[in-house]
Parts: sequence; C-alpha cells; structure tokens
Amino acid sequence: MATVTLAQVSKMYDGGVRAVDAIDLAINHGEFCVLVGPSGCGKSTTLRMIAGLEEITDGVLEIDGARVNDLPAKDRDIAFVFQNYALYPHLTVAQNVAFGLEQRRAHGNPLRAMLTGQRDARGRESAHIAQRVREVSSTLGLDELLTRYPRELSGGQRQRVAVGRAIARNPKVFLFDEPLSNLDARLRLETRTQLRLLHRRLSATIVYVTHDQEEAMTLADRLVVMHQGRVQQNSTAQIAYETPANRFVAAFIGTPPMNLIDGHFAHGTFESHGVSLPLPARWPSLINQSKPCALGFRPDRARIERATAHDGAHSVSAGAKINARVVAVERLGDRTDIAMEVARESAMNGGQTRLVARVNADEAEHMREGDEVRVLVDTAHVHLFEPGECGARITAS
Ligand code: ADP
Repeated sequence: MATVTLAQVSKMYDGGVRAVDAIDLAINHGEFCVLVGPSGCGKSTTLRMIAGLEEITDGVLEIDGARVNDLPAKDRDIAFVFQNYALYPHLTVAQNVAFGLEQRRAHGNPLRAMLTGQRDARGRESAHIAQRVREVSSTLGLDELLTRYPRELSGGQRQRVAVGRAIARNPKVFLFDEPLSNLDARLRLETRTQLRLLHRRLSATIVYVTHDQEEAMTLADRLVVMHQGRVQQNSTAQIAYETPANRFVAAFIGTPPMNLIDGHFAHGTFESHGVSLPLPARWPSLINQSKPCALGFRPDRARIERATAHDGAHSVSAGAKINARVVAVERLGDRTDIAMEVARESAMNGGQTRLVARVNADEAEHMREGDEVRVLVDTAHVHLFEPGECGARITAS
C-alpha cells in the first residue's frame, strides 16, 4: 500500500502536444482511483508517468511522500497491467506469474547471496516463488491453467494471468490501463466484480484507466474525470453523478447522459427554443440576473404524458412541461428510453434540441415514434451550468 501524489504535473510531447496539463491528485493508501474520460484526454499518459514509462515535463510526482520524478520504472515498486495483457507467449501461466519474482531474484543482492551461501539462498527463494505462485493462482482461480501457454487461454483467462503476474510481486501500487477492453460484455462485468473483490482483499492502492464511465463508476472509490489533459472533477462517483462540477462531467457521467438545453435565464425562468421553465428560487446568484446558461436534467427525472391527455392529469408537483415529439422508443425490459425532439413548431432555426426520458416500461407501453408528448421535468432536480463545453455548475442552494 502506498500514497500517490501528483502536484501540478504536466506532460508535453515532442511536437507541442500538451497531453496532461498541470493536474493535482492525491491518492490515499488502499484507494481504488479511476481516471476516466474520452479517448485522448490524457489518462494513459498520466498512468505512464506514474509508472515511470513517460518522463514528467513539469510538476512533482510522489509515492509514499518521496519524490520519484527521476526514479527509473523498475525501482518504483509498481505493477502495470496493460490492455493487451503483454504475457510472454513462450512461458507457461505459472512462469508468467512467477516472472516478476524471478526477475527480482536475478537482480537481487549477489553479495548477500554469496555471504549466506548461494545455494541455500537460491533454494529458499525458489520455494518462496513457488509458494507465492500457488497463493496467487488460488486467489485468481488459475490452478487448472498453470501449465498452459497464453495461446491456449481465453481472453478472460489471459487477463487473470496478467493480474496474477501483477499481484505476485506484492507491489506498492497497481496500475491498470483499460484491462477489460478486450473482453466481451459479459466477461467484462464478471471481471469487474472480481477486480473489486480482489481490491478489497489486497487493500491495494490502484490507479485504473478506462474510457467507460459505467466501469469507472462501479469500481472507483475516487473518480477522476479528465478532459483535454485537465481534471474536471475529483470526487466519489455518486457526487460526480449528483452534483457534476461542470457541463462536461454532467454529459459524460450517466447513461443515458444528462439532457442539456442551451438557453437563457431571466426573471426566474429558463427560456430556450420551445422551452419555458419557471424554476424554483434555488440559485441565489441568479436572483435579478439575466444570463445565458444551460439547463440539465437526468433522463430519469423526466416523465412523459401524451399531448392529448387531460392537462394536469399526471402533472408532477413543481414540474414544468416541454412539448416534444418522440423519435425513438428503446425498450430495455423493465424500463424504456424515449428519445424526443423539442416540438418543431416552437423550435427556431437552430439545431433541434434532443431529449431522452427513462421511464418504467408500463408507462411507455403505448408510446410510439411520432407521438406528440409533453415532458414533465422535475424542477427540484434540474442543474444549471455556465455556457460552454466545460461551463461550471451554478451553485444551487
Ligand atoms: P487517453 O489515454 O486518454 O486516450 P493519451 O494519454 O494516450 O490519452 O493521449 C493524450 C494526448 O497525447 C493525445 O492527444 C495523444 O494523441 C497525445 N499523445 C499520446 N502519446 C503521444 C506520443 N508518444 N507523442 C505525441 N503525442 C502523444
């Protein structure tokens, strides 16, 4: 177990790409920290700098309080599990798992070995390695596979061997770079659960990279959302979901993503093309203000009623309504996602505003493409953001 701290860490690649831009991050002992964000946001570069595989351009990286910017990768006591597993094809599973330990023995202290009697030391080490391989193998369910070669394993089994090789050395920190992305959907779910259990068992400090926000949310003690080389939010997954720090996080975290409508706030009402929502007085900074902003609400905070239904029959208290037309109905078993466009007659020239509502399957039973509907928005759960892709959340009371 160890702490990992990044202070104003940046990476500038040759050619002027600023892949990581002055990020601050403090990862605690035994924490499962997930870096998540779209492709190219700087996740892997951050991980590779922690591993020592990439030079740090600026800032300070500390492991357990010691500055390690210039410490070679092999001396950082870190294990790295890659997306493609990087197993040695000519070694068996047992040899792959033992590999790191054998390496350490080979580069161990020859003087000590000589003084203590090389043969004894070697014998003891071999017994220790064999014992460790057995422990790891039983932890990960590899017992039946120890004599096989990587080519004789399924993707999921290879992935377990790669994790086995990482944990065999008992390193201070584990780094995972998209370790599940080569697995099919079912195996990914299963392995995710196993990783979570393994983390609990090892109490290890883990830094884990993924572009999959759902995977990130289920694994993370600490969720770090990145975009354009910067940290957009560093919190628990629940906080990122409930109170996204900015519009980027709001749109990135959650499936389906948060509905976002660009518009204008004035006199206590949010206005956009085809949308006029009176909002409760939850934004003290907006009193008497008139300003552009974006309104957001989660798909499960909306309900739908047919435009022909008797007005108010299903209205939500403190709710507000948006006229829309159904463009797709996705039935997912217990729930249904209804995609809509804000009604054309009230939309101005600009692009159509798309909305999604997630409702109970029975509520959507008779819903069809082309239906004219009213979206009832629960205004107690709407968010407001400053304009722009990363517009900050406007604090509500
Ligand atoms: P992610 O892991 O989030 O997909 P990366 O850390 O791999 O992102 O990349 C961040 C940015 O740095 C991207 O714009 C990428 O093209 C660039 N980049 C990554 N590696 C190199 C490299 N070796 N040389 C130049 N640019 C790179």
